[in-house]
Amino acid sequence: MIVRELCCRDFRNLHAERLCPAPGVNILYGDNAQGKTNLLEACWLFTGARSFRGAKDSELVSFDADEARLTMNFFAGEREQQAEIRIRQRRSVTLNGVRLPSAAKLAGHLCGVVFSPAHLSLIRDGPEGRRHFTDAAYCQLRPGYIGALAEFRQVLAQRNAFLRQAAEQKLSVSRQHDMLPLWDHTLAAAGARITAARLRYIRRLEPLAAEIYAGLSGGREKLTLRWQTEAFSPEEWDQTEEPSPVRIAEAWLAVLNAADKADLAAGFSTVGPHREDMLLLLDGAPARSFGSQGQQRSIVLALKLAEAALLQQTTGEPPVAFLDDVMSELDVTRQDYILNHIHDWQVFITCCEPTTALRMTAGEVFHIQQGVIQK
Ligand code: ATP
Ligand code: MG
Repeated sequence: MIVRELCCRDFRNLHAERLCPAPGVNILYGDNAQGKTNLLEACWLFTGARSFRGAKDSELVSFDADEARLTMNFFAGEREQQAEIRIRQRRSVTLNGVRLPSAAKLAGHLCGVVFSPAHLSLIRDGPEGRRHFTDAAYCQLRPGYIGALAEFRQVLAQRNAFLRQAAEQKLSVSRQHDMLPLWDHTLAAAGARITAARLRYIRRLEPLAAEIYAGLSGGREKLTLRWQTEAFSPEEWDQTEEPSPVRIAEAWLAVLNAADKADLAAGFSTVGPHREDMLLLLDGAPARSFGSQGQQRSIVLALKLAEAALLQQTTGEPPVAFLDDVMSELDVTRQDYILNHIHDWQVFITCCEPTTALRMTAGEVFHIQQGVIQK
């Protein structure tokens, strides 16, 4: 996938701008608050996703305008295509002249991954973000997984509602004994599909992330990913050939049965796939506790680029990588890897320092100043 041309009209501080990027690496540099991230955000909307800054659609329209208008020419699916996004209160989209029912329907036409400094929370914060990263990435590969996730969430909510009633002594003891084994079965079956998918995804992601991380660190550090689940121990998982939902359901059932008493007392499910986590280890030590700023940044980048590589393996299309402010806190080895070793994809990199571009062997450099793009 290659972005050929982006035109922005009244999008944030980009009032009438045109960007014609190179098929390889593109550096967008400029001082703070000039519009570099705005430009990435404009491109990113063509993936069908929401703003990676969590902005509302209405916030994307320039302060002094009623409507923002973005047009993009891009190469994907072995042909040249064009999409247009108009934003007022909400987004409306046309693809190759045909109006789409919703902006989200652009998904799959232009595939990309984005790194933003906000994504460092993937390492620094709790397990929820890591589960979400894994689930969202797997959904891109297997859209049917969205249904499995919805079913799991529903079953978990129902089991929790039952446990809450039991804890508040609104259910007779005999009813508790009759019902809880049934809920254990249902949750084990629904949860096994989730755990199996996550294990499968991490297994495929790990070699790619480890290879990219090795490149970033100049081969000095080793990144390992492990999926941490209460269904079985890491030793058992290593021995498991292909994660099988049937075997995982059996494991979950045993774990849930063993927790029945504690769950009844607590009034919620104290074990299950909703407590799983992705362990990120650098040379065997948890990166969250022991990783430096640059190492943590490198891990998030490796995860994102590995996600893109998997997407490419599955769809056959090289995704576009949008890397916002990725260079800060990284040493020269790591910066050089980003600048010169991501050959296969189109990459957009924002940074403040014009000197960064001097170390790039091939690509385009754009200067952004007060919302104006200059080559
Ligand atoms: P940094 O290096 O600090 O990340 P940046 O170049 O990435 O800076 P952006 O976030 O792209 O900066 O742009 C910020 C600028 O865009 C701010 O000056 C802000 O006022 C302006 N801006 C944001 N939203 C709008 C809007 N809806 N209308 C007009 N200007 C806006
Ligand atoms: Mg920025």
